Amino acid sequence: MADWFEEGLRFECIRCGRCCGGGPGAVWVTPVEAAAIADYLGITLEEFGRRYLRRFASGSLSLTEKPNYDCIFLENGRCAVYPVRPAQCRLFPFWKEHTTSRAAWEEGTGFCPGVGRGRLYTADEIRKILEEQA
Ligand code: SF4
Repeated sequence: MADWFEEGLRFECIRCGRCCGGGPGAVWVTPVEAAAIADYLGITLEEFGRRYLRRFASGSLSLTEKPNYDCIFLENGRCAVYPVRPAQCRLFPFWKEHTTSRAAWEEGTGFCPGVGRGRLYTADEIRKILEEQA
């Protein structure tokens, strides 16, 4: 069965930082991602965990937030760890929950000025990105 995004979707991040703050949330981080960010920052994994991670009751790890709920790595509207950002950030806006229908897409990504502009992601590319989240 064809997906609703069969004609592809345009997206180009303009790095405005809007998806990195604005309200309380979680930025899930795997141990491999945590190690990569710690390495990028030149600190030990232990120090990284102490300074930048919080563990939820489920056991999942998230980056911490600033008091205003911005991501801890949002600096002057830019991501300070962009080359090694977690998959959740890297794969936005092509999250599973955003791609279930056009309405979900519009609701979940409407705040992002990068959606609807720039490069056309083909349906096959989008399906591949979604598989990464399986
Ligand atoms: S809101 Fe969209 S354009 Fe702005 S940083 Fe996030 S993904 Fe990029």
